[in-house]
Amino acid sequence: MKTVEVPLGDRSYPIYIGQGLLDQGELLQRHVPGKRVLIVTNETVAPLYLERCRAALTSGGSGLQVEAVILPDGEQYKSLDVLQKVWDKALESRLDRNSTFIALGGGVIGDMTGFAAAAYQRGVHFIQVPTTVMAMVDSSVGGKTGVNHPLGKNMIGAFYQPKVVLVDVDTLNSLPDRELASGISEIIKYGLIRDPALFEWLEANMERLLARDAEAMSYAIERSCINKAEVVSADEREGGVRATLNLGHTFGHAMEASQGYGVWLHGEAVAAGTVMAADMSLRLGWIEPSVASRATDLLKRAKLPTEPPKGMTQDDFRSFMAVDKKVLDGDLRLILLRGPLGNCVFTGNYDPAALDATLDNAVL
Ligand code: NAD
Ligand code: MG
Repeated sequence: MKTVEVPLGDRSYPIYIGQGLLDQGELLQRHVPGKRVLIVTNETVAPLYLERCRAALTSGGSGLQVEAVILPDGEQYKSLDVLQKVWDKALESRLDRNSTFIALGGGVIGDMTGFAAAAYQRGVHFIQVPTTVMAMVDSSVGGKTGVNHPLGKNMIGAFYQPKVVLVDVDTLNSLPDRELASGISEIIKYGLIRDPALFEWLEANMERLLARDAEAMSYAIERSCINKAEVVSADEREGGVRATLNLGHTFGHAMEASQGYGVWLHGEAVAAGTVMAADMSLRLGWIEPSVASRATDLLKRAKLPTEPPKGMTQDDFRSFMAVDKKVLDGDLRLILLRGPLGNCVFTGNYDPAALDATLDNAVL
């Protein structure tokens, strides 16, 4: 088992990464301060892992009382309406302020459970048990929690850190291929923005990751969590460097939104968005051509899209990008690659002709 620390002062926590961790009850139990636990999961994950998670919590005569609530599966259910079921269950079960909410699932369940825990009786203990690559390398680490609003994705939420993140890589064996690739897109992102050694390792080991080799997967997740932990501990509330985690995301969000959420997976849109960010960086003369081509090649090998969806227009991009959270005083700030492989900048200070050319080229 590997352990990555997320250093956040008195809110610091460990991430445990390894095989079979879901069966090592003590790992979870040591982070449950009270006697009552609520596992939050969904209809897809519950039949696969709920009973194992419950057994882990009650093993060795722990005496823990475990409740569970099973939500419908899908981004469209990441709403305040559906979240209400978590609080209903907690109140019906008379869970008190020393209870622990455990998120068992992908990023949707993690984000919802974290927000439910942050608000229930003004804050109860929270544990993440991520079961998708996306959740293991990105959403379970860093404390962003929340739900969607009909007028915008992730618009209602809170920063709320878990007590522990337990990553059992064996749970990835049941994950659909597209979901696997979507999460790998964020791993490639860490390589491009700040970890050239990880990028080179991915170039050498992509096939092992796609084959779900447990050792390779654990390594890639560990490196990703180390990168995310470093960024988050330097800038917990996204005043600066945390924004660099959004490489490719501004272009990607426009692709997700223009098709309607759920057509492309998040990591798929980020992949095509990353290619656009690299293209723009190249046009600005900020990177060597080899950096852009290596990024595109690696994303292709991960079976991710490297072009926007067919039919998307420049106007689509412009209108969706204009509402991006990174617009400040009318300037669209972007994360762009700059310098040798593994370096990026977050800036609104670039020649707009490069953005025009990138959009023009992407939608041809
Ligand atoms: P998801 O939670 O929808 O999971 C993807 C699919 O895989 C779902 O159908 C799920 O039921 C299924 N699934 C989960 N684990 C499985 C397993 N082990 N075996 C089989 N099927 C399994 O999607 P996701 O990609 O994990 O997360 C996306 C969400 O995360 C978005 O809502 C996004 O906003 C959020 N997110 C948050 C952050 C953050 O910092 N908080 C970062 C990135 C993404
Ligand atoms: Mg992302």
